[in-house]
Amino acid sequence: MHRDPHLHTNAALMARRRAALPAGMGQAHEIFVQRAENAEVWDVEGRRYIDFAGGIAVLNTGHRHPAVVAAVQAQLERFTHTCFQVLAYEPYVELCERLNALAPGEFAKKSFLLTSGAEAVENAVKIARAYTRRSAVIAFGGAFHGRTLLGMALTGKVVPYKQGFGPMPAEIFHGKFPCPLHGVSVEDAVASVEALFKYDVEPSRVAAIILEPVQGEGGFYVAPPAFVRALRDICDRHGIVLIADEVQTGAGRTGTFLACEQWGDVVPDLITMAKSLGGGMPLSAVIGRAEIMDAPGPGGLGGTYAGNPLACAAALAVLDAFEREQLLERSRAVGERLVAGLRAIAARHPTIGEVRGLGAMVAVELFEGGDVQRPAAALTQQIVKAAAQAGLILLSCGTHANVIRILVPLTASDAVLDEGLTILGGLFDRLAQA
Ligand code: PLP
Repeated sequence: MHRDPHLHTNAALMARRRAALPAGMGQAHEIFVQRAENAEVWDVEGRRYIDFAGGIAVLNTGHRHPAVVAAVQAQLERFTHTCFQVLAYEPYVELCERLNALAPGEFAKKSFLLTSGAEAVENAVKIARAYTRRSAVIAFGGAFHGRTLLGMALTGKVVPYKQGFGPMPAEIFHGKFPCPLHGVSVEDAVASVEALFKYDVEPSRVAAIILEPVQGEGGFYVAPPAFVRALRDICDRHGIVLIADEVQTGAGRTGTFLACEQWGDVVPDLITMAKSLGGGMPLSAVIGRAEIMDAPGPGGLGGTYAGNPLACAAALAVLDAFEREQLLERSRAVGERLVAGLRAIAARHPTIGEVRGLGAMVAVELFEGGDVQRPAAALTQQIVKAAAQAGLILLSCGTHANVIRILVPLTASDAVLDEGLTILGGLFDRLAQA
């Protein structure tokens, strides 16, 4: 194909994209990528960007980590697909063994692999249903669990995820997620679950409660220890399976390999992972108590591409990189550096109502005049857009679309982190009213 440079500008490619793709496929930035390296990306026009989005939490080990590239290349030379359910391969089994060892809990664990985060969530619910022989599932307002039918139903946000896509699958209920900033205490949130048992569904019909240790799309709200303790107690009292959806928090983002390691003596029964587990290759996993994981009968779980060999090779290289490069320590250091930098910006901009996070999963929430009743969604969008023009890729999130979240590779240098923070600070100085 000829490559006329005028036909390969961001604008020309966006025009082709608009004509060829449906409107429902959103796009945060009108940028087409040419190449990427660690925490930097170059577009088709040769412009460089610092990547604080990491492909939405997929690149904890950075773009094209050399060990991941080498592992995938080596696997490419051997075979790329057999379908694990037809002809098995060792990297799949080794990865499950390592995930079983990494997940918290002093009990026998089993794991299996899939392709997307939503698929992991779907399968965790299937397993919980098979084990408990119950049907209902409780999730939380503001949660995001994917775009498949069940993932969408579990997701606690109507626009854009549910609007027009009903009816939702039956027996999905939502409690309140604690968020003291917006007036929801842990007690309120626990009471909202108890209220479901009173008004909507008897606990003996509930198969699972699913929560994110830190709500991702919902706004980077951290589940308080007292909340997970209360949920664990409810689950134990009623024989309900507790699922931690670690699709966004997992693989070292929060300073521990899994965020639920920071739950003290509270241990989930099932854990979903995806995103950074595959280091840029599509891969997800369900990890859990062996007796629960063994509930579905042979053939009930799986998928043609599930646990693709290239993705398994990449994930093993990701786990090795975490050990070799001490990326969990790095995650905590990146988090501290980001929080310090963002607090310095917040000190001169009251529009930043909160700087929060867990490890390197860090966000700022914006309010007009610092008034929590007035989420600053327009300013948030303005800053995200202007940042891209200034060479920094950011993402927004939050129920009120007023949160800027940072999911920069943990392998980013301090210099690149500081460069990104300087750009962000300059944008607040230019766009936010003091
Ligand atoms: N669960 C959580 C917590 C997520 O953050 C996401 C994606 O952002 C998903 C599930 C869905 O993952 P995927 O987009 O890979 O299906």
